[in-house]
Amino acid sequence: MARLVLKFGGTSVGDVARLARAARLVAAERQPGTGLAIVVSAMSGETNRLVEFAREAAGGALIGPAFDDEYDVVCASGEQVTSGLLALALRRIALPARSWQGWQVPVLTDDSHGSARIDRIEAPDLLRALDEGEIAVLPGFQGVTGTGRITTLGRGGSDTSAVALAAALKAERCDIYTDVDGIYTTDPRIVARARRLDRISYEEMLEMASLGARVLQTRSVELAMNWRVPVRVLSSFVEPGQPNPGTLVCEEDPMMEQRVVSGIAYSRDEARISLFGVLDRPGIAADIFGRLADARINVDMIVQSQARTENRQNLLFTLPEKDVRLALATLQDGREAIDFEQVTADLDVAKVSVVGVGMRSHTGVARTMFQALAARNINIQAIATSEIKISVLVASEYTELAVRALHSAFELDASDPGRG
Ligand code: ASP
Ligand code: MG
Repeated sequence: MARLVLKFGGTSVGDVARLARAARLVAAERQPGTGLAIVVSAMSGETNRLVEFAREAAGGALIGPAFDDEYDVVCASGEQVTSGLLALALRRIALPARSWQGWQVPVLTDDSHGSARIDRIEAPDLLRALDEGEIAVLPGFQGVTGTGRITTLGRGGSDTSAVALAAALKAERCDIYTDVDGIYTTDPRIVARARRLDRISYEEMLEMASLGARVLQTRSVELAMNWRVPVRVLSSFVEPGQPNPGTLVCEEDPMMEQRVVSGIAYSRDEARISLFGVLDRPGIAADIFGRLADARINVDMIVQSQARTENRQNLLFTLPEKDVRLALATLQDGREAIDFEQVTADLDVAKVSVVGVGMRSHTGVARTMFQALAARNINIQAIATSEIKISVLVASEYTELAVRALHSAFELDASDPGRG
């Protein structure tokens, strides 16, 4: 029996009318010989509301070990509600549907409450129900520990639930219905001529997702890549039967390599820390980045350069904005041992990246990128590369300008704005 997983995000189940449309989209996918499993998010805004309740009940405390199992109980309820509501909407149009909570499937996770990882999905009963033609509706985002406690997978986690389920059910595909109609060459709010891509490779999508394109949770893309689950991103705002090709995230193919760059991503959630006059000796980088790793700080770009003073280096690195205070404190603590002259932080920076598997076979990508930025007088503060991406750090006021410049430089602009 073939199987298909459909996932509806928060805006796609945001009210009763939208739930009814989601039910119609599900109905349109139903055909003999294909089992349908549906994964839903909480109604848009609902998880935020629940998080706030949990905070207040805990006395305004930040969620921590003493609270986060109950935080999960509270937050996972948003998805429980929509799973029941969608099952009802499906029954209303005479389709056999039932909800399955995470603990009923079960979706087994580790016990890191608030950001649990799925260990395995054992679903003999669910599989039997699918084979009998029943539509299964599952709450995304939630799982259960081996000892029966409810967990959640971290914000945006229902994408990961859907892909994990598709892998466990050996589904043909996982369709993610959302409030955009696919993956674009860049953010259409910045570039009106951004184009929807028909296909994008797992690797490119992974780069785009982790570089700040917010359509899919990064972990869901990792899972899809590891398990080779084709994922289609498409709009839930159209009626069944209307054109809705979306974007297929899948294995790389020769077509993708022909285009040099597939997309431009950006992230404003970046900060830069500069260490000046670090005493130059072997082991200095290991010492500095070891301290930061111990503080669980994720460092991204790193640039080392000669300082004016002899035997001294300057070192700059980037990290998420939220970690700046901790990083500064960690470095100040180690000031004597590390031996540096000065440390500064700058939050007004952004990372802009060009991504494409075509870079493996095309030359001159860096040149085109740097020339396009130079022509707009945009200063590059740091550069990082991988086989399929080049990222630059720029002052955040230039984010939009840089994205637009690169989108045209790599000839990604649609000839007709807003059209594929
Ligand atoms: N409802 C959860 C959240 O808002 C999970 C999700 O929608 O993916 O983070
Ligand atoms: Mg989401």
